[in-house]
Amino acid sequence: MRKLAFGYSTRCNIRCEHCVATEDIPDSRKMDHDKAKEIIVEMAQAGIGGISFSAGEPFLYFNEIAELVKLCRQIGIYTRIVTNSFWAKTAESSDSLVSELKENGLCQLRLSYSRWHQKNVNRSNVLNAARSCQKIGLNYFISFVTDFSKEDDQYEQFLRNHCLTFFPEPVIYAGRAESFKRRRILTDYQANCCNMNPYLTPDLDMYACCDAGSYFPETNFFYLGSLKDNTVEQLFVKSETDRLYNLIRTMGITNIASFAGMKAREIITYSKCELCRKLFNSPETLTRLRAEVPQLEAWSR
Ligand code: SF4
Ligand code: SF4
Repeated sequence: MRKLAFGYSTRCNIRCEHCVATEDIPDSRKMDHDKAKEIIVEMAQAGIGGISFSAGEPFLYFNEIAELVKLCRQIGIYTRIVTNSFWAKTAESSDSLVSELKENGLCQLRLSYSRWHQKNVNRSNVLNAARSCQKIGLNYFISFVTDFSKEDDQYEQFLRNHCLTFFPEPVIYAGRAESFKRRRILTDYQANCCNMNPYLTPDLDMYACCDAGSYFPETNFFYLGSLKDNTVEQLFVKSETDRLYNLIRTMGITNIASFAGMKAREIITYSKCELCRKLFNSPETLTRLRAEVPQLEAWSR
């Protein structure tokens, strides 16, 4: 099933130190509401079955997002909203907004949580939002962003103490987190495959990866094109037929790094997105990999 991260607006009401947003992104970029509706209808026609409203803070445009969610339900698209829970200050206010979204057909709420988010939003908000979902019967989960340091233990314990559904997610060292001290990790030698769901910006640019994909300034490796000059179908086909993207999906970034000449000992010191940037944000490596795609495709055990 085709899925997409829908960046309705880049505006956020808080400023997390680890955010992948860069300093120079103006905080007021927002998609035209009617245009967003038009695109969503086109997406349904192009077979997109799931939309995640992410990017800035979607609840800043609550009524507009609620309307887009309703439209998605009418045309059979699964919806998720990613939020920092700033709006869930009390159980009552939280219940009221969650109920409205549930009535409009929202399928899932994803609550962002970390020691960086929680400098700006009290963690009791996340608890209120999760409790509202449990009460009202809306599927939710907490995305616990971590750099796996000891100081995150108390944040994880809070979630465990309240029996909340959460999944740890590695911080992405891009945007504001670019300057974070790189943690030297030793992971298992794992494939690091990615599904690569595209990301649509408020300016209608589409990227092949919804995570750090838009932050590859040297090569613009994940840029698919603009919906101003292409159809949704064309850009999805581009994402699905690019041979290197498909190798990321099937072979994984680790094997591509090994093919490109990186030592196994070095590869295991990188997290997935970091390794991806090392390979695909380098014009020389990318040119070489593009030229050697047939050999890479034949590289199997
Ligand atoms: S990480 Fe999320 S909540 Fe924090 S500044 Fe970025 S968009 Fe806003
Ligand atoms: S590893 Fe690359 S393709 Fe996968 S999520 Fe990270 S930036 Fe995107």
